[in-house]
Amino acid sequence: MNTSPSTYEAQRLDASKLTYSYTTSPRPVPDEATLASSDETICTDHMIIVSWKAKSGWSAPELKPYGPLSLFPSASCLHYAHECFEGLKAYRGYDGKIRLFRPDCNGRRFKMSAERISLPSIDPEELEKLMVALLSVDSPKWLPKHHAGQFLYVRPTIIGSNAQLAAVAPTEALMYIIVGFMPRMDMPPGGKRLLTSPDDMVRAWVGGFGYAKVGANYGPTVTASQDAYRRGFHQILWLYGENGECTEAGASNFFVLWRRKDGAKELITAPLDDRLILNGVTRRSCLELVRQRLRDVEVTERKFTIGELLEAAEDNRLLESFSAGTAWFICPVSKVQHRDREINIPMGSDGGPGEITATIKGWLEDIMYGRCEHEWGVVVPEKESENCTL
Ligand SMILES: *Cc1c(COP(=O)(O)O)cnc(C)c1O
Repeated sequence: MNTSPSTYEAQRLDASKLTYSYTTSPRPVPDEATLASSDETICTDHMIIVSWKAKSGWSAPELKPYGPLSLFPSASCLHYAHECFEGLKAYRGYDGKIRLFRPDCNGRRFKMSAERISLPSIDPEELEKLMVALLSVDSPKWLPKHHAGQFLYVRPTIIGSNAQLAAVAPTEALMYIIVGFMPRMDMPPGGKRLLTSPDDMVRAWVGGFGYAKVGANYGPTVTASQDAYRRGFHQILWLYGENGECTEAGASNFFVLWRRKDGAKELITAPLDDRLILNGVTRRSCLELVRQRLRDVEVTERKFTIGELLEAAEDNRLLESFSAGTAWFICPVSKVQHRDREINIPMGSDGGPGEITATIKGWLEDIMYGRCEHEWGVVVPEKESENCTL
């Protein structure tokens, strides 16, 4: 079988070919109680799906009713983790508009993740157009105007779907976009409590794929996080290497604000260069905003260890800490437990986030919920059509 892509011109992903088949059995929008008691992620009425074949490339994207996929049991995603995804939110603004936050960054990361695991490449701009198309159909009903300050979660996914039990580059794939509800997690009472990862486990490793949003990075971390939940913590602080470098908090990036020994106020987070951590859109946005707007805070991306955190705690130099990511948003961290040592980190005077954490969070919220005009907030034009009524 010769599927060398150089011998023909495969079709690129093209959002302008999108076709629409609307649901004939629209579902009710769940209330808070239903959401809280559901074990399933409740998704909106529609999804977008596009198939890919090595020979012909991407098919015309279809918007159709949300529902199950049909796959052969031999599909490569089910055996060799040919799966990557993205996660972003659609925010209902206080000005009534729906916005995505820096979707171009998610698109570029999606392309990188797909290429890392031999899935077909996508054009980030076409992905963005497809997300906008889906939201423009489903948001008027599922995130109506009177839900200002709320969000839906958007999950683009690519899976290898070729029915072949050989660990080779998939010759068939599916990309789909679904939109669902996700609870708000940025305000756990008392702040987020982290437990450091066990000695015999790492989330990612140098030379591995921790920098890509591929499913293979997540399933295997759940045993550690379940243990943390049982012990009263929210997430694992993943350490790496002999010195215990602080890398990520669960599936969020980890930040500490401390006073350096020379007295400077410093916001520190793990670096990207050794490709251990995920290059978060929220992470990058925090770094950029603080560098632009807070002159008295130095911003540093470098390795820092749990030993440095313990030392700063002993010297009373810890000021604030937070985790940053789409799901948990900006979530203040109040405690890190490392073996038998407890690191307590100050919170704000009202029990919420500390001053700098709250400032960063406020800036991001202003952009996401349209309190200010900013190039990072991309407005989704909505279809107020007959298809969208309940
Ligand atoms: C998705 C993710 C993040 C956060 O990235 P955002 O783009 O800010 O949502 C951080 N770490 C891991 C491991 C992730 O999967």
